[in-house]
Amino acid sequence: MKNDKLFVKILQSPCCGKTLKSTNELKCQKCGSVYSYKNNIPILITKTQLKEDAKNIKTAKDSRFNFEENKFIKSLFPPSDTLRIVNKENSLIRKLPKNGIALSIGSEIKSKKVINLDINPDMDIDIVADITSLPFKDNSLDLVICQYVLEHVKDIKKAVSEINRVLTPNGLVYISMPFLQLYHPSPSDYNRLTLDGLRFLMKNFHEVETGIGIGPASALAWILREFIASFFDNKFLHRITLFITGWLIFPLKYLDLFLVKKKHAYILASSFYYIGKKN
Ligand SMILES: [Zn+2]
Repeated sequence: MKNDKLFVKILQSPCCGKTLKSTNELKCQKCGSVYSYKNNIPILITKTQLKEDAKNIKTAKDSRFNFEENKFIKSLFPPSDTLRIVNKENSLIRKLPKNGIALSIGSEIKSKKVINLDINPDMDIDIVADITSLPFKDNSLDLVICQYVLEHVKDIKKAVSEINRVLTPNGLVYISMPFLQLYHPSPSDYNRLTLDGLRFLMKNFHEVETGIGIGPASALAWILREFIASFFDNKFLHRITLFITGWLIFPLKYLDLFLVKKKHAYILASSFYYIGKKN
């Protein structure tokens, strides 16, 4: 929804939470901080945070080989070892009220009703911002989608309280959160939650629905693959083992089509989701 007037109308400064004066750049009406556009995308993030993020993104890039960025090499990579059993994104977007606006944090959703936000300016998004200081006015969004993002956020309580603040009364939040997943810094990795933990985190919302997002077979496939590769210290051998085991192990994930309905699946689930309504 790039350059949408409505979109600019609901913005506020991430520094002081005040109105932004819009010219060639966006200026905080309280402290005068200036936020620029890059390729028409507003960068609504404080300079300190921007520096820290750039450093983290660079560290994540350095952990891969350059040739892995090659399109042909990428096409040879094994399929994902996890099967996403549940994805409620589309059905929630379809149910948005007329003129309703959704915010997707950390994943790109192609829809006129969705503002895509990420901390990484290199993504195909509408706005660059930090989840712990969302640059939107109170009660301005009807749906917030935040899938597999909170594990990468240091202060998840702050992030959830920001989501609560920007949602309209009765607005919906859709969170997906890892439970049994490997360490996957992109660019950093801080949190895992059980379903109880996720419910406690979201205690200020009214629970609409919860469940398993990714099942136990996917959890095992991902762990098994990395377990075998962990025998190799050498970076190249480690990566090549992940490549080979990826092709051998990925079919295991399809057991989740059966396992995820089992009574005890939550004990070993790879992730949980939570849909809540703002009170
Ligand atoms: Zn300010």
